[in-house]
Amino acid sequence: MKRFADNVLVVTGSAGDIGRAVALRFAREGAILALFDVRPSDATQAAVEAIGGEARSYRCDVTDAQSVQTAVNQVVSDFGKIDLLFNNAGYQGLFKKTHAYPQDDFFKVININLVGAFHVLRSVSEVMVKQGSGCIVNTASMAGVGVPPNMIAYGSSKAAIISMTKIAAKDLAPYGIRVNAISPAFMGPGVMWDRQVALQAQAGSPYYDSDPLVVEHQMVNEIPMHRLGDIKEIPGVVAFLMSDDASYITGENVRIAGG
Ligand code: NAD
Repeated sequence: MKRFADNVLVVTGSAGDIGRAVALRFAREGAILALFDVRPSDATQAAVEAIGGEARSYRCDVTDAQSVQTAVNQVVSDFGKIDLLFNNAGYQGLFKKTHAYPQDDFFKVININLVGAFHVLRSVSEVMVKQGSGCIVNTASMAGVGVPPNMIAYGSSKAAIISMTKIAAKDLAPYGIRVNAISPAFMGPGVMWDRQVALQAQAGSPYYDSDPLVVEHQMVNEIPMHRLGDIKEIPGVVAFLMSDDASYITGENVRIAGG
């Protein structure tokens, strides 16, 4: 029995690592994928189709409310409904101390991670309210739970996602819609991990060494389980939160962080 048979799932950031992994997991469990990204989602769509799943790609810039609304309208016109949303597009930003953080990058991070997530949440939840059902998972981050140095924009944007999740969960509960968040921590190996190790080393703070190899050890030592997370450890948690097994869970932020 496929848990998400014929459910329509919108995934934002679907061209990226986590979006692709989640899309594939849901395709295996019977969902129909609507792939939203500012970049082409061809590789994700091809991977879904290669395992016999159904996916359609919608070029969408989450920072642009009209672009999001157009894509959401198109999904409803193509499939008649939206059952599930994985609100996941994101940008890590620069690694700079607070007093030196460039204003334009601060706005870029907030625009993609927070304003963009709101645009998607708003347009999709409007569809779900009309349906009287739906389930949403927002991607936050341990950077929004803890206090990472040199990440004033990213950490603030992800802390706001956790708050947005709780408020939306309250607003949407009367309409049969659950809203939760996930907070992954250090995931690797991968581009995001390499980038953050290199940039934390360059940032010249007293909290991390200037040698990326040492920074890697410092970061792994912060994790009680003493290892990086694997992207493969994320989709199962999202699937649980979207499933009936989590039918009484809303407004939670689930940390995927090794302790
Ligand atoms: P990724 O860079 O591989 O994917 C992010 C995707 O978001 C990209 O495909 C990108 O094109 C898309 N995107 C960026 N701006 C967009 C816009 N304006 N409109 C539409 N799409 C846009 O990164 P990932 O690791 O897959 O990250 C996915 C989410 O997980 C992000 O929100 C990220 O902050 C979060 N996260 C990642 C990690 C990690 O270690 N990988 C840890 C914690 C949280």
